[in-house]
Amino acid sequence: MKCPCQVMPNNNTASSVTDHSSVTNHAVTDHTMKSYANCCQPFHTGSSIPQTAEQLMRSRYSAFVLVDVPYIVATTLPAQQALLDKQAIADWAKQTDWAGLEIVKHTPKVGKRHAQVEFKAFFHADEQQDKHAQGELEQGKTILQAHHELSSFVKATNKLSDKPSNKLDGKSDNQQTQLTQWYFLDPTVSLNISQKQPCICGSGEKYKRCCGRFLD
Ligand SMILES: [Zn+2]
Ligand SMILES: [Zn+2]
Repeated sequence: MKCPCQVMPNNNTASSVTDHSSVTNHAVTDHTMKSYANCCQPFHTGSSIPQTAEQLMRSRYSAFVLVDVPYIVATTLPAQQALLDKQAIADWAKQTDWAGLEIVKHTPKVGKRHAQVEFKAFFHADEQQDKHAQGELEQGKTILQAHHELSSFVKATNKLSDKPSNKLDGKSDNQQTQLTQWYFLDPTVSLNISQKQPCICGSGEKYKRCCGRFLD
């Protein structure tokens, strides 16, 4: 099985995407389509962890395609995990007709411990959604659309004592909880934190100087 994150709409299709401004060709450089087993699967099963924010972003996209909600939760900043609406994530992942991923830009270093990934997550949508309201269900009339986003990530030490839900063996608990790894900073989760408090990522810096820059 080809990894979901390796699928990219071809140029013909991509040119019909509503957001014309940044349909790029440079991202087509890597023609080798990695298999799921050689790409995101090891991250999903917990046998390895993403080394870069781009890998994490790709694996999160693949998790959306495969409706792996525990993985999506586990790769969000631990301080935000309890606040995620897991049912909404599951519904959205299931209902979306995913069509591919394009990494537009990966900025591996934004300050000391942050990174950003600009991407387009493609999906098929009904051309005329309002027709549904009239009871007219037209099959096969879909257009390609894209979520074009700039996501922020933080490299943080997971100090939680609970095991990551996707871990396979229980042997390496101590090591696992000390691991420094990349987490997604979810801008839709509002945290009740003042600008001067220590940052939620555990860096020891003030929130406003750390993750607060990417969450406000
Ligand atoms: Zn992948
Ligand atoms: Zn932080």
